[in-house]
Amino acid sequence: MLGIYLPAAALMLGAFSFQPLEYSLPLKLPESAAVDLQAEEPTSLTQLSIPDYVYTIQSGDTLSTIFERLGVSQKEMYQVLESDVSILALDTLKPGDKLGFWLESGQLHQLELRFSAAEQVVFTRAAAEVFEYSEVRLEGEWREEMLAGEINGSFYNSAKRAGLRASEIQRVSALLQDKINFRRDLRAGDRFQVVRAEQYVDGEATGNTRLEGLRILNRSRELTAFNFEGQFYDLNGESLASAFIRYPTKGKYRLSSHFNPFRKHPVTGRVRPHNGTDFATPIGTPVLATGDGVVTRVTKHPYAGLYIVIEHGEKYKTRFLHLSKALVTKGQTVSRGQKIALSGNSGRSTGPHLHYELHVNGRPVNAMTAPIPVADGVDKDERLAFTQRTQRLLEQMGVNQG
Ligand SMILES: [Zn+2]
Repeated sequence: MLGIYLPAAALMLGAFSFQPLEYSLPLKLPESAAVDLQAEEPTSLTQLSIPDYVYTIQSGDTLSTIFERLGVSQKEMYQVLESDVSILALDTLKPGDKLGFWLESGQLHQLELRFSAAEQVVFTRAAAEVFEYSEVRLEGEWREEMLAGEINGSFYNSAKRAGLRASEIQRVSALLQDKINFRRDLRAGDRFQVVRAEQYVDGEATGNTRLEGLRILNRSRELTAFNFEGQFYDLNGESLASAFIRYPTKGKYRLSSHFNPFRKHPVTGRVRPHNGTDFATPIGTPVLATGDGVVTRVTKHPYAGLYIVIEHGEKYKTRFLHLSKALVTKGQTVSRGQKIALSGNSGRSTGPHLHYELHVNGRPVNAMTAPIPVADGVDKDERLAFTQRTQRLLEQMGVNQG
């Protein structure tokens, strides 16, 4: 173990140098016991150098207090947040995630967000007042397991008992929402099976999981969903993905800023991508969900303003920034075309507009030109591969196809 302790002097300086600001981490759990900076052996994949401090996020932490304890100024925290507006990674920190700090003569030089062995984001000082980010994402290996259960009470509770996580249950519900009403149609004694894959990097579970296949025996009928190259299909190869709409508004609005992965930062001259499309919407314009999905975040960010994140299955994600009002809450299931918010001018914004992002497999793409999924079946020439895959998953569920 490396003995990395915060010098007492720095702690004291931090204590009276700045008022703690209101900016807080998203997960507000009850205030836990005193938060201590921990001495740990850093195991960063992205950096050869060892951070000066490593801090493990605890319940009730705020970014402000963590920075304050290290004696890093709030001004620098806002410089990091300014860079974070492109990826909104800080808002996803949860207890157990680690922050690595590199300081140079009392100034923050680099900050690493370590979400897991597979996922890190690094903010590095690129100019006097500007940080740039880089992302590390490792695929690792995915190990499959089969979970099975019987309906007794709600689907949620039954699936929980079988070992599924809340987020996975939500994904199952969203996937089959057009096929079954989970509240009304399921009966006690109905059975379900789920093949889930869990990600490992260097033998360490990252906490990320993926649904591979599922089967629900609802009285006399059988509902199935199989993940094939990131899209879900039923046993017959019919798509379960509903199509997207191109525009997140009812009317057409002027595009005030295009998606641009190569946009340059005016100060550093380095690439600071514009990961979305901006529409010149007046404040109060209804914003629509562009596909069926689950709301995973409704958050305020000092630069992104009020924003919403929607996950559409395993592969697609959309984000809506600078809103004036959210009409949905975290965890809510939404359908394509549903009014989810009113546009605004919140956060740092040069005028009223809607910033809209579409992500495919965790990467932002141009929402105006990206091939939008259409509800087609499995391609003819991929039919054999699809059948082999479903047969293998069904075998794991103990289904004899003979
Ligand atoms: Zn924008």
